Amino acid sequence: MQSRAGSREDEVVKKMASLLKSGATMLEQTCPFCNVPLFRLKTGEVVCPSCGQRFVIVSSDEEELQARGNLVLQELERAAVERLAEIASQLRGARDPSEVSEALDVAINLLRVIDYARKIRQGKAG
Ligand SMILES: [Zn+2]
Repeated sequence: MQSRAGSREDEVVKKMASLLKSGATMLEQTCPFCNVPLFRLKTGEVVCPSCGQRFVIVSSDEEELQARGNLVLQELERAAVERLAEIASQLRGARDPSEVSEALDVAINLLRVIDYARKIRQGKAG
């Protein structure tokens, strides 16, 4: 008579076989819960054949860095735009010329930051 654990393993093996048949590829990474190899489906999703858990695997350090860099740039752009709005209202209320030129200097720097951030995010910098 087969043990429960045995039939469970059989099920996983069957699931793996059917994943491979459907064009999925077996990965080096294993499921941290079941310790079985993960599979990448044709859709790009990575699943565990045992528990069915889905995983997000970043394929390279470079991709991860780029994803994080984009978030930082977005944050920077947003902060610069907010600052620019403050500068704009300062400029409206400015009386003396040195105050105006100071505000404009800051505004130009902010616009540069926004411009760069956008270009880098769109891959147009350099
Ligand atoms: Zn699992």
